[in-house]
Amino acid sequence: MPKITIQKERCKACGLCVEFCPQKLIRLGEELNKKGFYSAVFQDNGTCRGCGFCALVCPDACIEVYKV
Ligand code: SF4
Ligand code: SF4
Repeated sequence: MPKITIQKERCKACGLCVEFCPQKLIRLGEELNKKGFYSAVFQDNGTCRGCGFCALVCPDACIEVYKV
């Protein structure tokens, strides 16, 4: 089942991954990272398609997609 990882300390909370995930599996979290941003959080409910849109749109290359 596909899944993603988000390097939260690199995230600047731009929200692009939140906007572009067709499954709506990413939201901005409630915890500040070291940069002072509410970093993105992956909410895995088993429906991630592994499409990679989230990783493609992230300007800071915070996201990796695993298709296993
Ligand atoms: S790989 Fe696709 S479905 Fe999975 S979290 Fe990223 S944008 Fe959403
Ligand atoms: S696109 Fe990247 S920098 Fe922007 S909120 Fe998502 S993980 Fe953070």
